[in-house]
Amino acid sequence: MAVSFDNEHIALLTQHGKERVIAPVLEPLLHCRIEHVSGYDTDQLGSFSRDIARPGSQLEAARRKAQIGMRLSGLPLGLASEGSFGPDPFTGMFLWNIEMVVLIDSRHDLEIVGIAQGQARSADKLVNNWEAAATVASLAGFPEHQMMLRPDHADDPRVCKGIADWESLQQQFALTLAQSASGQVFIESDLRAHANPTRMENIRLATIDLGKRLSSYCPQCATPGYGPVKAITGLPCGSCHRPTSLARGEQWHCNRCGHDETIWRSDIKEADPRHCDHCNP
Ligand SMILES: [Zn+2]
Ligand SMILES: [Zn+2]
Repeated sequence: MAVSFDNEHIALLTQHGKERVIAPVLEPLLHCRIEHVSGYDTDQLGSFSRDIARPGSQLEAARRKAQIGMRLSGLPLGLASEGSFGPDPFTGMFLWNIEMVVLIDSRHDLEIVGIAQGQARSADKLVNNWEAAATVASLAGFPEHQMMLRPDHADDPRVCKGIADWESLQQQFALTLAQSASGQVFIESDLRAHANPTRMENIRLATIDLGKRLSSYCPQCATPGYGPVKAITGLPCGSCHRPTSLARGEQWHCNRCGHDETIWRSDIKEADPRHCDHCNP
């Protein structure tokens, strides 16, 4: 199936400046125009200041945003991104960020998803003095990475978001402390995309992944978006040859015709024994 985005306008619904990283990647690659659609409060679909919970999966949320952008702009092509945060998959001790960028082409009934992930840059703590608050902010990469403050506890609805310089942080800290009944302030990273450059970089990387998938065609039906959908684990340990949790290949899949293929890893044949549960429990 011949799919071209040449000179096409693609709707991008975002209110957090994501067009700054998405457009420079996709416009030269696809020769398309990214139409920034605003005027819709995407935070109503779930927000990272924890005011509004997000219903459904991360992909469903991204898809919903892309569809709203298409509806508002009247364009048959839509883009949107959605992030999530949770424990890291290796130790469960760090906050992990997964970013998805989805492209919907209603002309060809296509949906293609790019993904990037990595450790989040964030910190949070309940503190009772300015020095402690400043330490948390430094740890979280402030002021490039913005902070939020709440009186008393993590779920207090009185929140001050998007604090981006030391003077404001100190002023807002004093105001928030004055509001607190317990003499404590909950300080945490503002994880909205425009407030967290580490997250914005993951959105850029997810867009690059989307671009790669758009340039990869199914060998069976020639639809773009052909790519890995899951890792096949069990790379043998270099010492005892037992299977490890490292990938020995990837399952590639076409969403259109269902064509499946296993691509075995060619870069390494054996895992370092430190990844082996038997040799390094
Ligand atoms: Zn081993
Ligand atoms: Zn196919």
